[in-house]
Amino acid sequence: MRCDRCELEAVVDQPYRQAHLCKSHFLASVEGRVRRELHRQLPGFPGGTVAVALSGGKDSVVTLELASRYFSRRPGVRLVAITVDEGIADYRTASLRAAAACAERLEIEHRIVRSEDALGTTTDAAALELPMLAPCSFCGVWRRQLLNQSARDVGADVLLLGFNLDDLAQTVLMNLARGELPRLLRMAPHTRRQPGLIPRAAPLAAIPEREVYLYARLAALQFDHSECPHATRAARNEFREVLWRLEDAIPGTRQALLRTRERLLPLLETAYGGTRAGVCSECGEPATGTLCRACSYRTRARTATRPAATARAPRGFEHSLEVGDSAE
Ligand code: SF4
Ligand SMILES: [Zn+2]
Ligand SMILES: [Zn+2]
Repeated sequence: MRCDRCELEAVVDQPYRQAHLCKSHFLASVEGRVRRELHRQLPGFPGGTVAVALSGGKDSVVTLELASRYFSRRPGVRLVAITVDEGIADYRTASLRAAAACAERLEIEHRIVRSEDALGTTTDAAALELPMLAPCSFCGVWRRQLLNQSARDVGADVLLLGFNLDDLAQTVLMNLARGELPRLLRMAPHTRRQPGLIPRAAPLAAIPEREVYLYARLAALQFDHSECPHATRAARNEFREVLWRLEDAIPGTRQALLRTRERLLPLLETAYGGTRAGVCSECGEPATGTLCRACSYRTRARTATRPAATARAPRGFEHSLEVGDSAE
């Protein structure tokens, strides 16, 4: 198969736009789409501090690499990479190493936040205390809160996340399937500021997961390949598989799901935009009830009687709606 733009052999086919690209045209096409996405999601960005969530997996490494190129041409922008160590044995050690190496190579300030220090627990510990829940449910909530707090601590104006096209399309599909319409409004990329929350942007929103991986390999970026041992229990896996089948049969389904959300946004804003979040009585972070979701999971873990380790419930709908790492 030849590249559509030159005579060289194609390294990728893109059925959703009926294109085939060689290595150099593919790399340029990813970089161009990410540039356009950043322009679109951060129109007229005046400069300031940009925090980037960096787990060390392919998505976050590509995000940091391309954000660093994009913002290096702009004066008055400070980049800070933030890594959350959730406390997952045999997994986070390698990804933390990859994250640190990436930040060091790009000469970007790097902060590491440990769940154990910040929350007094870890994902591994809570997985034993709450075996009836898929660990992604509390892990994702805790990670989002720690990322938000750290981004706020460094004075960030925006927080970049490594969500790719597949991640975001899965989130839209999950929220639609559950009738969780307010979450469609609250998910990244953000179109409005919410009190206490650093707006989140997703530079890889137009790039399918397969192409993020290919980009990282072809651009010789070092990233961690390991998969979280808890990821198999995430309900998101079901949606991932359904979406693969849909995309295979109807190329462009993922982009269509993102367009659906964008078209719904004005209606969702009218219906739910007026609901202002309160403040958690325990930690002071934004919350829709008395306790934020992070504190309510912490309380459940603290007060749980530790059951036998084998007592696991099947996968359910109790999950984090923005699990990024399960796809990293
Ligand atoms: S897959 Fe991600 S969200 Fe789920 S437990 Fe592992 S690190 Fe946490
Ligand atoms: Zn070419
Ligand atoms: Zn709280």
